[in-house]
Amino acid sequence: MTVSSPATSTDALDELAAKLADGANAYDPTLYLARARAYLAQAYPDLAAGDAYRAVLLTDYIRDYSDEGDLLLDDSGVGNSGREEEGEDEEDGEEEGRRTDAEEFYAATQAVLHLRRAAGQGDAEPLLEQLEQDSLLLLVTALKEVGCDKQAGEYARLGVQRFPKARGFREVLGAAEAADKGNGGRARRLVYPWNSHEPDRFSAEAVGHLNGLIVPRSSDCVEVRVVNLPLLSEAAEVLGETKHLGVFAKRDIVAGENCMREESALTVVTDPAEGGLCEYCGCRWRKEAVPSRPKLVLRLPGDAVAEGGKERKADDGEDDAAPAETFACDLCAEAEAEGIEAVVPIWCSPHCRDMAMAKYHPALCSRPIAPIHRAALRQSDAQVARSSQPGGAVYALLMMKAFAMALTQGVHPLELEETKYLYGVPPVEVLELRIGWGWEENVRGVVGILEALGIDVFSGKHPSLSTEVSRPDWWDTWVVNTLVAKFRGTASGRLNAHGETEAAAAHTLYSLVNHDCEPNVRWECAGIMRFWGVGGEGSGIAVKEGHELQSCYCDNSLPYKERREWMMGCLGGACMCSRCLREEKEDKEREKR
Ligand SMILES: [Zn+2]
Ligand SMILES: [Zn+2]
Ligand SMILES: [Zn+2]
Repeated sequence: MTVSSPATSTDALDELAAKLADGANAYDPTLYLARARAYLAQAYPDLAAGDAYRAVLLTDYIRDYSDEGDLLLDDSGVGNSGREEEGEDEEDGEEEGRRTDAEEFYAATQAVLHLRRAAGQGDAEPLLEQLEQDSLLLLVTALKEVGCDKQAGEYARLGVQRFPKARGFREVLGAAEAADKGNGGRARRLVYPWNSHEPDRFSAEAVGHLNGLIVPRSSDCVEVRVVNLPLLSEAAEVLGETKHLGVFAKRDIVAGENCMREESALTVVTDPAEGGLCEYCGCRWRKEAVPSRPKLVLRLPGDAVAEGGKERKADDGEDDAAPAETFACDLCAEAEAEGIEAVVPIWCSPHCRDMAMAKYHPALCSRPIAPIHRAALRQSDAQVARSSQPGGAVYALLMMKAFAMALTQGVHPLELEETKYLYGVPPVEVLELRIGWGWEENVRGVVGILEALGIDVFSGKHPSLSTEVSRPDWWDTWVVNTLVAKFRGTASGRLNAHGETEAAAAHTLYSLVNHDCEPNVRWECAGIMRFWGVGGEGSGIAVKEGHELQSCYCDNSLPYKERREWMMGCLGGACMCSRCLREEKEDKEREKR
């Protein structure tokens, strides 16, 4: 199916967004359904799925509590009976951070008010039933359209059971069962027309901000500039030029010189308590990762893993030296002792502890986030080992940390210093440009993260942190999609000796250094991202003053064809650097002979 880019107004979407942002409407299922329809009409089935899911949740809650007699669908009495007291008892459970019945019950009582009002003074039952059916069908349709056939089929089967007379579910079920379920969904990759948070990367203001505030923390000898790079095609032709940002030397950088050292708060470690890595900076504080739990994947004898892991490249020794003392969070430890599934972070220095506390930890402290870490640990092995890109469940950790920063600092998740300048989507929509999209990764898992952090999925509010600043539209599916695009575009992952992802991070400056198969700088990330000039000690100048720093995104010992294949995804086409062109020419001349 070809989805044309609708150039028409997003007025209807803006209006619905404004209504939903009004706290009084946060639990109105009809508004979520209406916005899901509007998204679908504008060729955003992925966003439609996110809203349809919220409508389905709300109608499910109403149904559950009215079936149990705790909620009345007409105006004939007060909304509930003894249930409220029970609900209040369970408020205690909220302290532990689980999404409790009390929260669902509250959402249901709010949602039913909207339905009763819509039904006049009469019975809201017919309206509820219609709404349940419409929301589920919209979810099913949206999932099918975005390419999540497996989930579309599952929800369609549910629809057939619950609404046997309804049209639509059977068709989608049949189509979903016939479809090849291999690849998951694909969504449009663009700066959404209503996204006012994306900076104009090439403006003097943006470049000035990077050079004034971001660069000085990591280097005193480079600066960011706008640069024209060839627009690459998969067939190794140059289609033209396109603007990028690049990093340039302000003075000569000599071979072996450490020229950049970038720390990022948007670093996640899969096992902050036992993995031996600092939860803030990702540096190793314990010499080697010691498996702290029974192995989740059976390792066959002969599947040798060198104890202590593969030796990393020698460096200035900064990271492997175990610090004298580590720091943990006492409150998290207490919560864990009380049986809450909290994660006790270990930090390698007072600096790391203080930064974590200032940037994000208050939003994670004592929250039941261990299941989200466990999922990232579990999916580590095979899926991720093949690429340096972290996999889906690791993105969930990056997402959770970005959300925690937003809550702690009272800043929209796309306005954070750590996310704003990450490159994820081209400034102008490239037709047919798509990005992998997963129901779990982009919608359902995100609802799980919001619940773990104690953020109300509908109102966007948090009971104790930054209640005044966090808004429902901070956590919308389009915000999630934009963050995932940025993570996919720029995040790097690290495996431990057992082939499991132990850490992932997004570094702004690192992401701005462009590629060349004959690099003049090399990088290594052991928590801190470090760049140094290429060439042995004393072999001269690696990067001349005014020249661009270029690193290699792949193993540059590979032949050019393999290099191009490897980097097709991250470069958007075949590499056309001078080394690739030279080797391609040599290859062709050899063939002629
Ligand atoms: Zn640290
Ligand atoms: Zn804590
Ligand atoms: Zn190349």
